[in-house]
Amino acid sequence: MKKFFHCLMALSLAATVALSGFTPSISAQTNVDAKNQQSEELPNIAILATGGTIAGTGSSSTQTTGYKSGDLAIDTLIEAVPEMNEIANISGEQIVSVDSTDISNDILLKLGKRINELLASDDVDGIVITHGTDTVEETAYFLNLVVKSDKPVVLTAAMRPATAMSADGPFNLYNAVLLAGHESSKGKGVLVTLNDRISGARHITKTNTTVTDAFKSVENGYLGTIVAGKPYYYNKVAQLHTTGTPFNISKIEKLPQVDIIYGYQNNPTYMYEAAVENGAEGIVVAAPGDGTLSSKSLQGVEYALDKGVTVVRSSRVGSGTVSPKEGFITSDSLNPQKARILLMLALTVTDDPEEIQSFYNQY
Ligand code: ASP
Repeated sequence: MKKFFHCLMALSLAATVALSGFTPSISAQTNVDAKNQQSEELPNIAILATGGTIAGTGSSSTQTTGYKSGDLAIDTLIEAVPEMNEIANISGEQIVSVDSTDISNDILLKLGKRINELLASDDVDGIVITHGTDTVEETAYFLNLVVKSDKPVVLTAAMRPATAMSADGPFNLYNAVLLAGHESSKGKGVLVTLNDRISGARHITKTNTTVTDAFKSVENGYLGTIVAGKPYYYNKVAQLHTTGTPFNISKIEKLPQVDIIYGYQNNPTYMYEAAVENGAEGIVVAAPGDGTLSSKSLQGVEYALDKGVTVVRSSRVGSGTVSPKEGFITSDSLNPQKARILLMLALTVTDDPEEIQSFYNQY
């Protein structure tokens, strides 16, 4: 019954998986050489896999929630999209196989270091990272700040698991490879593509829990779009990125602990005390409105500042720039989760509030 069902989905990744008799096997680091003949005319693209829904499997073609994230290994994803072999020489590597909510600072460092290592080689022209949608914006922004190359780095993901009817993963992966190998993608900072759209890591965010059109660049727009196998770029990100930032992770073994504390009616101060007691070196406040601190939040912030913890005011609103206020660092237009990423990296080079503010203003 199950086999019959899979046969009906002849065009989907699920069908490819089922028909090839796939049994999920995940190793910490699997190198997969493309089965195609390497062509000197095609760009060499390394796909680094981290898990997520794009590698997720459910028990039926209509299961789009409650499936198993990160179940398929990178070789299966690559084999399922043979069309990629017509546009690039592909290699695959499994970095981790996790739901993206489990991407830790250590995984970020491992991924960033591996990308810099690969891009330093003349044999690699671009990188694609497959990732879960929930935190892809955080990883993308981290890489946007630490990758030291102009070569394209493109993250992609999927809202529907690989076994779903009309799974979005295969085409998103194809488009990511197309972008990573395209001359016009160079020097634009780290890119994210889903749904035929090209976004800059600085502005893209997940705006919906389940629909396939979940990613928006609120206020700032997409960088471009992909039509009929060709990227069209219309905008540039104004902020500095990649080679334009001072963050060098090559020697960093551990990133500082930075926590996010939400602001809301009747919020207590003890979240600040807990963060400080547990070793936070930085706190981002996801405050209401224009980064407005309630009197309780202000008490908490003052407590943290007194203990030498760096505090950044951000906003929970979802769009807009937090206006500067004397005596506080503000996150510019970075949402709290991206403000956390920048603060972790900032604290690896300085704890001077003015310098940290200048990072928020520039990156
Ligand atoms: N929870 C999944 C993840 O972020 C969601 C997804 O990939 O769409 O890994």
